[in-house]
Amino acid sequence: MLFKSIPGNHEQKALLVQSIANGKLAHAQLFHGPEGALNLSLAVAWATYLHCENRGAEDACGVCAACSKSLKFIHPDTHFVFPLANVEGDKDEERFKATILKQWRVFLGQHPYGTPDTWAALYGGEDKQALISREESREIIKALSLKPFESKYKVMIIWQPETMHSSAANGILKILEEPPPHTYFILVTNHAEQLLPTILSRTQAVSFPLLEDEDLDEQLVAVEPDTLKRKKLVQLAEGNLSAALELAKEEENQYSSRFATWMRACYRNNFQEILPMSEEFHEMDRMGQRNFIQYAMLMLREIMLARAGAASLSRTNGEERVLAQNMSKVLPVPSLERTYHVLNDASYHLERNGSAKMIFMDASLQISTLFGRGA
Ligand SMILES: [Zn+2]
Repeated sequence: MLFKSIPGNHEQKALLVQSIANGKLAHAQLFHGPEGALNLSLAVAWATYLHCENRGAEDACGVCAACSKSLKFIHPDTHFVFPLANVEGDKDEERFKATILKQWRVFLGQHPYGTPDTWAALYGGEDKQALISREESREIIKALSLKPFESKYKVMIIWQPETMHSSAANGILKILEEPPPHTYFILVTNHAEQLLPTILSRTQAVSFPLLEDEDLDEQLVAVEPDTLKRKKLVQLAEGNLSAALELAKEEENQYSSRFATWMRACYRNNFQEILPMSEEFHEMDRMGQRNFIQYAMLMLREIMLARAGAASLSRTNGEERVLAQNMSKVLPVPSLERTYHVLNDASYHLERNGSAKMIFMDASLQISTLFGRGA
């Protein structure tokens, strides 16, 4: 991760860069902030900058041998420690560790602003208590007893140190106080208050805020192009990027299941099901109604693409893709095209403030006919 790929935190980034440039580095730092702060990404960016062979004034170069490893999270002198629940894994301990480490890299790569929940979901540790074990503290000491492999420095990033078993925490006190030369600890936490005072007193605290609304908005453009909807997300998420991304996904999931139910009901001519759906549709706010119809039109386009055998163009995710493929198998192209036009009309009438319930019922009726008769 590079500093420039992480939104906001301008002052903090400048301070971090400066600390490396003037060589005044605390050997143990505590990167803390509220839930949703981007302190884990910033710790990774800090290590990337430290190892970089060709540091710029504001960021790592991103292309040197060290950077190319750091960007894949495989730099041998950046170590990660993170909580883990007791999951059933490979009996071969070394192999199990290698698998977990691979998953950890996937986590950092695909969910750079992920939460403990995202992490747990990724390795299958949901609903279980995760901790940093005593064994792990031995690993820390072992890893740091070796000289750096490629860099001048060694970095040990401990994510959620508050989950350290107390014997693990006590196990690292000494090395935290007096690490080997050129060794730097970064403890990354959203719950500094849960850390043992003995740990806290050995670190220099750097505090990271949540994102400003403009920075958050900018980050969401890719997942939510609609300005008004994005504004709502920004408002709800209050500076928490991972929360905003979750919300965006949730909304899309709701649309996709609603759309699937609707299309199935139309296909079966099931008005007992369609009637309550039109009531529900009526209850949504105008923006939600319009967005749902827009979403339905987007899906229709996907279905037509699937029908044309161009499914690789598809922007849909797993569940949606299955729906699109199934619908493309049972419905001929003219029906799909006309359905698209029906939705387009619905969108037009919604914009002109027609009764949402009437519009939904009318569209459902037309679509049922199109589906039923193969038009
Ligand atoms: Zn570099």
